Amino acid sequence: MAAAVALVDAARRLADDVLAPAAEATDRAPVVPRSHLDALAGAGLFELTAAPRSATREIYEALAGACGVTFFVWVQHHAPVRMLVASANAGARDRWLDHLCSGRKLGGVAFAYLRRPGPPAVVATRVPGGYRIDGEAPWVTSWGLAGLYAVAARLDDRVVFFVMEAGAGGVRASAPLAMAAMNASSTVRLAFDGLVVPDDDVLSVSPFADWQADDRAATAQPHPAPFGIAARCVQLLGDTPLAGEVAELRARAYALADGTDLAAQVEVRAESLELAVRAATALVVASGGRGMSLDHPAQRLLREAAFFTIQAQTPALRRATLAQLRARS
Ligand SMILES: Cc1cc2nc3c(=O)[nH]c(=O)nc-3n(C[C@H](O)[C@H](O)[C@H](O)COP(=O)(O)OP(=O)(O)OC[C@H]3O[C@@H](n4cnc5c(N)ncnc54)[C@H](O)[C@@H]3O)c2cc1C
Repeated sequence: MAAAVALVDAARRLADDVLAPAAEATDRAPVVPRSHLDALAGAGLFELTAAPRSATREIYEALAGACGVTFFVWVQHHAPVRMLVASANAGARDRWLDHLCSGRKLGGVAFAYLRRPGPPAVVATRVPGGYRIDGEAPWVTSWGLAGLYAVAARLDDRVVFFVMEAGAGGVRASAPLAMAAMNASSTVRLAFDGLVVPDDDVLSVSPFADWQADDRAATAQPHPAPFGIAARCVQLLGDTPLAGEVAELRARAYALADGTDLAAQVEVRAESLELAVRAATALVVASGGRGMSLDHPAQRLLREAAFFTIQAQTPALRRATLAQLRARS
């Protein structure tokens, strides 16, 4: 427990002393500074699998409220860490986990396309000793920064997750995509053209329906990032009735998160996305013309709040978020 408190304190200190003061510059930079990631790794924040959920949420809130793009690059890293910890592939874990947890390598992930309806975007074909991977991942963050990716591919009615080193043959990256938010995340489109993945690099092969059920549960959970953004807006606004609204919704969301009512969780997640956008809009309004300057946090926080309305979006979350926006208009 003491270790978790120390991690939360370290995250808050880095958020206030390192990330927030540089956030507008980082927003405009071509890529998140390596020094930010080294500072997070140095504080022990590259491995959170043992931290209690409450501590992880506070860490996410602190970092997302300080610098959205540093948070986003950092949070992707935890996907391969979690998958390696959970994998039955002890060899892959031994090869990679320590590199990721120590910060010697940054991790990334490519899987959101599994949620799209229609033909699979990335497919695996069984070949002797492994799989051949073909298709295109539409969004892959941290290209050029990350050393190791966890990647998903559909194999008939199953899904294969594997690790891939950046720079593997059989992979073509686009130029970094120009984005209205998270532009410094170095996000590319990645084409897989006969990438050969040996069985040694396979983390799991599981029924796609099981993955979908887990993903429905995971994406229904409240996302701490909108609360981090809303809290930062409240702090910058000063005396605002939004403070009470953020505190009330946060308490309600995290209480629901411990239950099993997915529909209620999705509703409250959508409420938090809408609240973050509204808090950031209030900050823009209260800031006047200055709030539109790229040197001002208000416009950045508004763009970052908008980003989280689409990140990890599912059909249920899309419907619930649109309903929230209609209810407020
Ligand atoms: C800057 C940026 C960086 C990103 N980085 C990564 C990354 O590193 N790794 C990664 O895996 N992903 C990444 N993403 C993907 C991100 O999480 C997805 O954008 C998000 O999940 C929305 O998906 P989409 O826009 O790709 O798909 P969409 O096709 O818009 O799908 C969104 C949701 O709507 C549903 N949907 C779509 N069409 C229909 C339809 N016709 N009927 C019913 N439902 C439908 C889908 O099933 C899905 O659940 C990134 C995105 C951005 C913008």
